[in-house]
Amino acid sequence: MAKRLVILGSTGSIGTQSLDVAEQRGYTVNALAAHSNVGLLEEQIRRFRPAMAALYDEAAARDLRDRVRDLDIQVLSGMEGLCTLAELPGTDVVLNAVVGMVGLLPTLHALRAGHDVALANKETLVAGGELVMCAAREHHARLLPVDSEHSAIFQCLQGTKAGAWAPPAPSKDLGLSRVILTASGGPFFGKTAEELRQVTLQDALRHPNWSMGPKITVDSATMMNKGLELIEAKWLFDIAPENIDIVVHRESILHSLIEFTDNSVLAQLGVPDMRIPIQYALTWPLRGDPPVHRLDLAEIGRLTFYKPDHEAFPAIELCRVAIEKGGAYPAAVNAANEAANLLFREGKIPFYAISELVADTLSRTLPAVSAVEDILAVDEDCRQRIVG
Ligand code: NDP
Ligand code: MG
Repeated sequence: MAKRLVILGSTGSIGTQSLDVAEQRGYTVNALAAHSNVGLLEEQIRRFRPAMAALYDEAAARDLRDRVRDLDIQVLSGMEGLCTLAELPGTDVVLNAVVGMVGLLPTLHALRAGHDVALANKETLVAGGELVMCAAREHHARLLPVDSEHSAIFQCLQGTKAGAWAPPAPSKDLGLSRVILTASGGPFFGKTAEELRQVTLQDALRHPNWSMGPKITVDSATMMNKGLELIEAKWLFDIAPENIDIVVHRESILHSLIEFTDNSVLAQLGVPDMRIPIQYALTWPLRGDPPVHRLDLAEIGRLTFYKPDHEAFPAIELCRVAIEKGGAYPAAVNAANEAANLLFREGKIPFYAISELVADTLSRTLPAVSAVEDILAVDEDCRQRIVG
């Protein structure tokens, strides 16, 4: 079926790969959005001819409007622009590939419009998991995981008695007893806490297996990415955090596993290329032609597995504490991490300070949260405390 897509964050690593998949599959692109990359968004508009586009940055949006004056397209800006695109009528799937908590409101708008959301933007679920799952349930929309680990779990769950299953449908009848997320370990695998005091931004940006945007690449180096994914998995698959384990798997071939009540385990494998999970989120419950080459296990030879080193990489346990505390804590941890991650990329703090700043946030007393406005307020407050 030729689907009609809205892609938020189309100029990023996931966004550009999503457009490649869309082109290969002959999908219609209704709308595209990004932050400020006018040049690339203009190219994408000329290639896919969407009816609408948005740039978060007002000045960049004005520039884009000027550049595409010859086309029949409406260009919006700001958060309002993103949310308008997210609820665009005549859309089958909104693919949210923006980076950061800024993706939360557009996700909610898409779900409330009854659109399925293919979700790469994990910060959305970390900060507002409960609200997002409720919105999906209430508006009969689905959350189709794009993150490779969550796609792996999603794919494994299709073989269960529930048939074609997707969040937010309840997972309690699936016989699931544990989820095991794999982590590559990032560029600093094997380093001690002492050695991590010396690492540079350049070192952190050298991921062994994946080419991704800068924020998630640094999150992989601190292992915060896996902590965020633990929270993401809790919400998507309705599984208690104590039943989510993490194993380091250096080769990034086995993308995650699920264990059933009888201790039988299923895993999903494939070459490390995001076009597989992106395409699956778009073709589900069916499968498409191969977007990547075949997996050759004999060529790879060995798959290795290790326990995570929580002393050198405290981020996973910090996220575990945050989700156990619940309430505003996951949003606070996410906000602190976004702010600290950026400060590190700007050369203003050392690598090890990222986890320290996140830990400080956890020791604060935070207000209760119920509405999205409460979450946005906690987010803003936690960022301000770090940025100063
Ligand atoms: P990139 O940094 O490569 O791209 C980010 C995209 O978001 C860009 O299109 C950027 O626009 C856009 N963006 C940033 N801020 C805003 C804003 N305020 N409003 C609108 N658009 C905005 O990131 P990735 O593609 O690597 O990651 C995107 C998301 O997917 C993240 O949540 C990440 O954790 C997740 N993810 C990524 C994976 C990967 O392999 N890259 C794997 C699994 C998950 P502009 O170019 O104009 O700045
Ligand atoms: Mg992942």
